[in-house]
Amino acid sequence: MNSNEAYEIIKNTSNLACEKMNDFSKSILRTRGGRIGSGMGSLLEALWGYMMNQILESKGIDCEIAWFPDNQYNDFSCIKRNVKWDETTREGEFFRIEVKSMNTGADESKAHFSALKKELEENDVLLILIWEWQQVDDFHFSPIVVDSFFNRALGVAALRDALHIARGGTFVTANSCPDNCNPSECPHDGEPLNDSGKRERLSGPESTRVSSKVSYAQNFGGLVRMLKTNNSKARSVFRKIRKENPVADHYISFIHRNYPNEEKNQYTKDELYKIAKAQGHAAIPSNKDSLYNLISSTKDYQKLLRDLLS
Ligand SMILES: [Zn+2]
Repeated sequence: MNSNEAYEIIKNTSNLACEKMNDFSKSILRTRGGRIGSGMGSLLEALWGYMMNQILESKGIDCEIAWFPDNQYNDFSCIKRNVKWDETTREGEFFRIEVKSMNTGADESKAHFSALKKELEENDVLLILIWEWQQVDDFHFSPIVVDSFFNRALGVAALRDALHIARGGTFVTANSCPDNCNPSECPHDGEPLNDSGKRERLSGPESTRVSSKVSYAQNFGGLVRMLKTNNSKARSVFRKIRKENPVADHYISFIHRNYPNEEKNQYTKDELYKIAKAQGHAAIPSNKDSLYNLISSTKDYQKLLRDLLS
């Protein structure tokens, strides 16, 4: 088995792992009153790994999901079964998986995909679990995964980084590091700075910290926030990349179907009207909310948003 084959197996098994998680939740994670901020997201992220391993073992597949021993950007690694694994050299490893969870009823601020492009390899994965509390009987609730995203992290990083630049952000280069590092030793190469020149990650240059009290800005890679476009240039970058990059298109479609207000805000009323016309509706409302509700109730409307608008 090579890395691509292992990637395809895990990708095609991820939904089954989510179904098994939901079965487990309904029988074990039953509670009176589901609370947001309960740490349940972290538990679900870990459960995905356990469920995936159970499936891989039962099918006799020669790879397994491993946990990183300490804090890394990637939570899991897909490794060769019963072979020595060295997480510093990636020996024995097929690819890495950064897993994030989002509760549809909660603020997304905690969920970030902020790994730098240079830290990612071709088959590394971004996995996102969208979950909500669902009532499972007259009194009890369980955390249920309602949607998930599994795709190559580099494709999402390309979209994220292009929109970061389109919003006025930059990336540090070793040759012009704000900390005046020796270029051959600069550890900040590739670190994102926001449009005020402040660092977005703790590992960015010290001289670009936000203030004496706030160490870093932490907007970079916010799973919903990274798609926001505050100017026409950013909007055209968003749409161009969506047409050209299938992973970006998948990511945008996924976030927007789970956060429909974000999708509605991305487009003008005139643009939504154009889509409604293309869908052939007889009566088209003039109110933006009704217009959006009309077009998004049709299957494949996201394809039209991608293909017809520039
Ligand atoms: Zn530096």
